[in-house]
Amino acid sequence: MKATICVLPGDGIGPEVTSKAVAVLSKVASKFGHDFTFNEALMGGIAIDKTGTSLPAESLKTAEQSDAILLGAVGGPKWSDPTASVRPEQGLLQIRKHFDLFANLRPVKAYPALAQHTPLRPDLLDNVDMLFVRELTGGIYFGPRQEQGDGDSAYDTELYTVPEVERVAHVAFRAAQSRRNKVTSVDKANVMAAYRLWRRTVVKVHEDYSDVELDHVLVDACTMYLMTRPASFDVIVASNIFGDILSDEASVLAGSLGMLPSASLGSGTMGLYEPIHGSAPDIAGQGKANPTGTILSAAMLLRYSLGLEAEAKVVEAAVEKTLAAGARTADIAPRGGSFISTNEYADQVLSAIE
Ligand code: NAD
Repeated sequence: MKATICVLPGDGIGPEVTSKAVAVLSKVASKFGHDFTFNEALMGGIAIDKTGTSLPAESLKTAEQSDAILLGAVGGPKWSDPTASVRPEQGLLQIRKHFDLFANLRPVKAYPALAQHTPLRPDLLDNVDMLFVRELTGGIYFGPRQEQGDGDSAYDTELYTVPEVERVAHVAFRAAQSRRNKVTSVDKANVMAAYRLWRRTVVKVHEDYSDVELDHVLVDACTMYLMTRPASFDVIVASNIFGDILSDEASVLAGSLGMLPSASLGSGTMGLYEPIHGSAPDIAGQGKANPTGTILSAAMLLRYSLGLEAEAKVVEAAVEKTLAAGARTADIAPRGGSFISTNEYADQVLSAIE
């Protein structure tokens, strides 16, 4: 198959990890006889430095002419002034909105090879395999807000409409049908009106999916259950802010923030694929970045945008094999233990694809 992939390396460790995911996709292309074209474009702090805006029109055009987008991460101390009128994350919010990528899929798996690396009892990690479906283009990150410089009040608004909740709920129920048929909806319906709307809408959508079990968990309780009974979750559907926070918490189960991939999808096959971590300026340029989250994001790209399920599984199996063989980047190495560089780790994943 022929496909064009827009690559937005971004800032910090972004270029280090996206280059590894591109190498993996290239390897998959040659192994399976596909023809992938990679078009690199600017986004984030680097784009601000070069063009004055975090998502230049040319980058958006490159993305529009592609089948999928692979992103590293954006941001860093150089561009962190919260009062600046141009900020790196604006490009990210803009591109999600532009392509109406309303559902953010974040799978979280506990790898047996890394069980000792988490702060949890290893037996709690048996069979941990969950999928967050986070609403991505609505809620408090996009609702009406007021900021008054140094004024003594400010607000953001948690605003959801029925169609926004319906479409993300459909994504969650459909995903559950290809997994273990269970959806947990997270809300704060006991206190907030927006979440009473959320809950009643999810209940209504559930009527179309009688084969899927649905339960509701308040967000505060969910933070606890993720640590005390993580294996009980299958698909978790959550608002923009709750999904953001809970999936970072859940990354502890996988051993490191560097392990987790994500896919942001709309109603068609176009998607944006990125690791859930940020630009990690503290380790940028040191060969310490774990490229797994980005490599697994590339696997999601193969699955969701290109429909190449077998190829996606080959990449996921290569990561498991690499971890099982003992390869460790700094973030997943045992305390005081040895670790290998980003390049060496990625080379082992590439060999495992052979
Ligand atoms: P971060 O995710 O960049 O880093 C948090 C910690 O995790 C750091 O100690 C970092 O070294 C470590 N880490 C992250 N990814 C890693 C990897 N692949 N391998 C090994 N270790 C890894 O979060 P932060 O420090 O809060 O934010 C840094 C910058 O990234 C900020 O400017 C923030 O705005 C931005 N950010 C961007 C995105 C995005 O582009 N989607 C997401 C979150 C944060």
